[in-house]
Amino acid sequence: MTRPLALLLALLATVLSATAADPTRPNIVIIFADDLGYGDLGCYGHPNIRTPHLDRMAAEGMRFTEFYSAAEVCTPSRAALLTGRYPIRSGMCHDQFRVLRNGSTGHLPAGEITTAEALKARGYATGCIGKWHLGNWMNNPAGHPRKHGFDFYFGLPHSNDMNLTPVAPKGAGKLAEQQAEWWNAPLFRNEELIEQPADQTTLTRRYTDEAVKFITANKAKPFFLYLPHTFPHTPLFASKDFAGKSPRGIYGDVVEELDASVGKVLDTLRQEKLAENTLVFFTSDNGPWLIMNQQGGSAGLLREGKGSTWEGGMRVPGIAWWPGKIKAAQTQRTLACTMDLFTTSLKLAGANVPADRAIDGLDIRPLLFGTGTVQRDAYFYYRGTRLMAARAGDFKAHFMTQAAYGQAKHEEQTPPLLFNLRVDASETFNVATNQPAVLSQIAQAVERHKIALQPAPSQLVEAVPAPEKK
Ligand code: MG
Repeated sequence: MTRPLALLLALLATVLSATAADPTRPNIVIIFADDLGYGDLGCYGHPNIRTPHLDRMAAEGMRFTEFYSAAEVCTPSRAALLTGRYPIRSGMCHDQFRVLRNGSTGHLPAGEITTAEALKARGYATGCIGKWHLGNWMNNPAGHPRKHGFDFYFGLPHSNDMNLTPVAPKGAGKLAEQQAEWWNAPLFRNEELIEQPADQTTLTRRYTDEAVKFITANKAKPFFLYLPHTFPHTPLFASKDFAGKSPRGIYGDVVEELDASVGKVLDTLRQEKLAENTLVFFTSDNGPWLIMNQQGGSAGLLREGKGSTWEGGMRVPGIAWWPGKIKAAQTQRTLACTMDLFTTSLKLAGANVPADRAIDGLDIRPLLFGTGTVQRDAYFYYRGTRLMAARAGDFKAHFMTQAAYGQAKHEEQTPPLLFNLRVDASETFNVATNQPAVLSQIAQAVERHKIALQPAPSQLVEAVPAPEKK
């Protein structure tokens, strides 16, 4: 090829890539609610929380009935989403502290490969807007999202309830009337602290504005936007356009504002003509925080909530949207999980799924596009480092059980409890005595999983959260 021709072709390629969507590198947007329950959206059966935008997203795309987070609390769930691995592998789980605390120096280990790192290597712009909770860089800079593949960050390093001020009353998170001065959450843009305490009534709106800005600023390149909302984790705050409007009270106000935020993100993609080259996935990091009384959400017909490995703790809403690629109005009943979003995102982007480590997430493109099935040996429910339960097909065996969120004591189940989730999603009727073959099949899947976990994770020490700073 002559030099002028090569230059011309290179120029043409540059012009094309700056103006046209690249179908080999679609945009990926993951919207992650915090503590939103399986039963909290209109399209999942809530009677009076109004979620027209999420309902429309489901009507235009695919609604999963068996979608799971990979943990029952925030930190391990987020680690799994972004690495495609059970948290036990990265060490981002802890039996005592459960999640990283305000004073923790632990963080997602540098050796972990995040979705953002893998997509950045494929030329994606990468942004994280919202709650991080995989390391507090105020204690240790290595925990910052920009050390884990994100070009841009805006949000809170951890949960919105982690900096109580001395004037906060006992049980402040459960109270219906929240006072801004009880909370001292730090709001960052990249490494810069821009507001403390953050005005929590503005967070959902500001995250949305930043998301819209990120999409429009990066519309000429492929982008990965991770949008982990602060809410509906308590304390609950809605902006004045939403406060006091929902029949479900402040919890409904907050969810309805999140719904409007999703609507804005999808509208932006439509307006920028990016919708047909963008996968958007909406889900939640764990089930509803039931101990927050009326300030906590609902798992619908599922048993228990956040902090437990009953279905309500880990089965969450999951909605996929990609006009022209994912057919409208589909209900997907095959089990899928947040770890699959890692593998599927990499596959969509043409990135190599890491081969030097175990990856638990599966490529669910066949489910999304209706081109085939996905084979999964079993799904494993962890609480900290403990394997509590496993599901294979319709059946779930509980090897250990615990009553509720706050209880650290686990009771070993011998024989395990067994539930047929297809007929008993509420895990009410133990059928262990009738199903020895099923129990043995699940036991074998657990054995294979335990062997696959060897050698035992060595990184636990690096990620161990320190106790709360007093
Ligand atoms: Mg959470």
